[in-house]
Amino acid sequence: MSNRVPPLIMGHEFSGVVAEADDPTQLGSRVAVNPLISCWQCEMCRAGNPHLCPTRKIIGIHVAGAFAGFVVAPEINLVELPAGLSFEGGALVEPLAVVVHAVDFALRGGIPESALVIGAGTLGLLTTRLLAGVGVSRLVVTDLTVARLELAQTLGATRTINGRDRASADPMPTDFEVVFDCVGSGLTKIEAVRSVRSGGTVVLLGLHDETLPINAQELVRREIALRGAVTYTPRDFRRAVQILASDAVPYEDWIERRPLARGAESFEELLSASGKVVKVLLGDGS
Ligand SMILES: [Zn+2]
Repeated sequence: MSNRVPPLIMGHEFSGVVAEADDPTQLGSRVAVNPLISCWQCEMCRAGNPHLCPTRKIIGIHVAGAFAGFVVAPEINLVELPAGLSFEGGALVEPLAVVVHAVDFALRGGIPESALVIGAGTLGLLTTRLLAGVGVSRLVVTDLTVARLELAQTLGATRTINGRDRASADPMPTDFEVVFDCVGSGLTKIEAVRSVRSGGTVVLLGLHDETLPINAQELVRREIALRGAVTYTPRDFRRAVQILASDAVPYEDWIERRPLARGAESFEELLSASGKVVKVLLGDGS
């Protein structure tokens, strides 16, 4: 993404132990860290939307992140991990909070009967799990990777469609009440609009491409609501901690923990991803 400008220590999804703090009672705490640094004074912040703060900065994007032994964060950004939640689970709080926030938009009009999730990476899998959890009865997931579609099924998809053999498969349904684009490429945005029913909602989370190659008249004529969703409020972040602590999101099958020194090779591997490892967690601690 264009907002990550080298030289930069990346890493915005992380958990750890407090090693140094102004408040000595915090020392040794196991925490997840909300990486959004907001001003807490502007109109957006005061209205409870610090994720939309115009001067917001993100740890790992605008300031040094967590692919390191130590990282600095404001104390207000720390959320204590419940005793049963592992550091791996703590590192998944951030992406789950993104999904909690996005799924909330889709649930405002009640629980949708049908939903399509485009992309079975971290965001797509977590979206699938939350939608299955609230009882969406027709829950379809598309991806280009067989292994990831199998994971989507274990997380609650009622049907999966592999975009690679679309030509030979049944045509894609076009009557979903809600569609989540968890990829954000030009093609997936077109697919999202094509697949939603008239009067339905498309939620855009993916940030793959910057432009929106969509026929605006189709949005008008079919009354399609197009909704962007980005990051999370502090409340979404705390809810993500609770959800992970309740074991509602199985993650052992699709994450892998490796030493920090294997970071570069892991990025290369994920770029050409075709396997079951959807997310690599880098860390040297216990
Ligand atoms: Zn602000």
